[in-house]
Amino acid sequence: MFEKKLQVKMRRTAVLVACSILLFLVCGGLLSTALQKSKSETIQEQISIEIDEYKSRILKQLDADFQMLSTLAAFLEENITEDRQLLTRQLDQANQNNGFLTMVYFDRQGQGVISTLGEQPLTDASLDDLAQEGRRVVELALEGTVMISQLFESELSENRVFAYSVPVYSNGKLIGALAASDHIDIFSDILNGNAVLSGGGYIHMLDSEGNFLVRSSRTVLPAETRSLFDSNYLSEEARTLIQNALQNQQSASSSFSYQGKTYPFMVEPVGLNGWMLLCVSTGETISTSTSDWILQGTFIGVFLLMLFLLLYNYRILRGYNRELIGLAYYDTLTQAENLTRFQQRLPEALEHTGGCVAALCVRQFPFLIEIFGRDKAEQLLCQMKKTADQLLKKDEFFCRDTEDRFYLFLAETDQETLRPRLQQLMDQICAQAEISAMNYQLALYCGVAISEASDHPAEMANTLMVRVQFALDKAIGGHSNTIWFFDTELHKLEELENYIESHMHQALHSGEFRMFLQPKHRLSDGKLLGAEALVRWLPRDRGPIFPDQFIPLFEKNGFCVQLDLYMVEQACRKLREWMDRGMTPVPLSVNQSKLLFFEADYVGKLTRIVDRYQISPQWITLEILEGMALENADVLNRKIADLHQAGFQISLDDFGSGYSSLNTLGKLEIDELKLDREFLLSASSPKQNRVRLIMEQIVQLAHQLTIRTVVEGVETEEDERFIRSIGCDIGQGYLYSRPVSAEEFDRLLEQAYSGSSADPSSGSNR
Ligand code: C2E
Ligand code: CA
Ligand code: CA
Repeated sequence: MFEKKLQVKMRRTAVLVACSILLFLVCGGLLSTALQKSKSETIQEQISIEIDEYKSRILKQLDADFQMLSTLAAFLEENITEDRQLLTRQLDQANQNNGFLTMVYFDRQGQGVISTLGEQPLTDASLDDLAQEGRRVVELALEGTVMISQLFESELSENRVFAYSVPVYSNGKLIGALAASDHIDIFSDILNGNAVLSGGGYIHMLDSEGNFLVRSSRTVLPAETRSLFDSNYLSEEARTLIQNALQNQQSASSSFSYQGKTYPFMVEPVGLNGWMLLCVSTGETISTSTSDWILQGTFIGVFLLMLFLLLYNYRILRGYNRELIGLAYYDTLTQAENLTRFQQRLPEALEHTGGCVAALCVRQFPFLIEIFGRDKAEQLLCQMKKTADQLLKKDEFFCRDTEDRFYLFLAETDQETLRPRLQQLMDQICAQAEISAMNYQLALYCGVAISEASDHPAEMANTLMVRVQFALDKAIGGHSNTIWFFDTELHKLEELENYIESHMHQALHSGEFRMFLQPKHRLSDGKLLGAEALVRWLPRDRGPIFPDQFIPLFEKNGFCVQLDLYMVEQACRKLREWMDRGMTPVPLSVNQSKLLFFEADYVGKLTRIVDRYQISPQWITLEILEGMALENADVLNRKIADLHQAGFQISLDDFGSGYSSLNTLGKLEIDELKLDREFLLSASSPKQNRVRLIMEQIVQLAHQLTIRTVVEGVETEEDERFIRSIGCDIGQGYLYSRPVSAEEFDRLLEQAYSGSSADPSSGSNR
């Protein structure tokens, strides 16, 4: 059970830890995503700043070129000449100084001059000498528009170029157009700067279709890639996003994957000719796959570590737990469970199946240790454990308590089934014991207590443990190798005996012993002649206890000596009270036990009591049992003589119940003979004539010996008629009255003697 609890606890802990780990992973994941997001946002921000910077540099470059062109236009405005040679030289000069690829000037008639770096300038050029795109921007400038062309193939410079054009005015009148073309590579220097994203990135320039116009020399994608969309590195989503951005000339951010890495990038319109800047971040730190791997790896590592720690702790704990359980619940010698464990399991078993507890022990175990030594004795105990293991069924269990004591739970409640099973167990133990082979007659004791239906299995378990103890004690007190089943009646008796012995002294001091009186009536006229004092124990904490329940015990433990003297004292006290109250007293008979009767200074003790109450001993009749006469009638007679001497009356009680003989009667010098109740019971049997005869003889003999006769147990009128017919003197029994409390007897006495008086010796009158 303990282990089960631990397992449950460990399972809970494991679930808790697993949940914690999961939570940890989820939080970590979220955190990592957030970090990743914030990182990519930071990168995007950096890219955005960077791309803006480069855009403005490009625009500045363009602006500078325009400025240059405008300055030249202004110069031409001032110095325009009809002299074509001169105009050509001036233009060529300007072109050499400013580093354009080609410079052209055309007047409104379409006649112009062309200067191309490294070529002879053309003095007499027409618009047809220009490429289509070149001509377009010149023509637009001739209409007064400032223009930048698309890229085009220039036949003049044999290069992919673009051209700027500005109108030229003279005195506010448009007279011509100045244009200059330049290689797109003029932006390469700007874009190839090492400083892009502090070295962690590069910038390309794209046209509105996504084709590379200017490629940075530092690049991730292979050099032969002509268009951003040539590659399959862009996801479908990114592709659409970028296409839209190009189409609408908007900026957009995305990323592409190449060789296991993810590269964030951004496109931003330059604001001219649909050109776009593409800025790519190549920073190592943004290799998400690697950082993801590291992060995931860390989490898995932590997870596995925690799992390992958990399992490791579980193993250690389980080990400790087993050890503890071993110490707490197992008997180290036999490895059987111990009593603690047994008592723990018992209520549960009783609730499930019901059953019984059997206790088993070895006859004279200490003696056995002495003869064979402890080792052999312990071997026997281990053997007992083995046999129990073999013979007990699935739901049954047992334990070894101290030394040779075993308790077994058997899931049976029927004595007839239990007896052969237990007998088999005992027989097998005896047969298999090593010492049995050494000619030792091994014997066992067995006590059993069977469970009853109960709603409180824990209470029932406790009760069974007490009862089985009781049954085992009985078994130990009886023959060995027998099985004692707990008997409720017997147990109650035993319990009462325990109560009696443990409470008797205190009961005597606190007045729980009360004197009840049973009247004795003269048969001739029904007169109340006296009473017998009968003790009643009225405990405060339970119901009354009757003499038959405690007198035999007091006779064994000697307490009857004190009790009988106490009753004599109570009788004297009553007599004194009657006398003091002016009532007519009647003689009281007090039962005397054998122990008291032969007590040293017995007569002296009695005398002192009667003296204390100033009562004549004649009012007290001492009832002794006929059994006392069996041992030595002479000794008894001497005692009787002493008592007579002191003035007491002697009655022989229960005559006819035991070994009574007329011979005994003849020897004893008694004053009264009480015939036992048995006589009356027998007198109504088929042998009644014989009994009648015997009783008649006894009564006659008693009369001849001047002994008055009392018959006990007179219950019916018929009984009374009979005893009267055989000449008996006095009757005592329920017909007249049950034993009543002293106070109630006072009333009976008052009724009987209103006006007349009694005589202590009246009982002797026949
Ligand atoms: P016992 O001395 O023979 O007392 C007579 C018993 O018979 C009393 O039982 C009484 O209640 C009972 N009895 C009286 N009339 C009838 C009847 O008509 N029918 C039946 N069935 N029973 C009747 P009790 O009081 O239970 O006393 C039992 C025995 O205990 C006494 O037998 C006596 O031996 C002893 N005892 C009682 N009080 C004392 C005492 O103070 N000291 C000693 N040593 N023994 C006492
Ligand atoms: Ca008696
Ligand atoms: Ca009697």
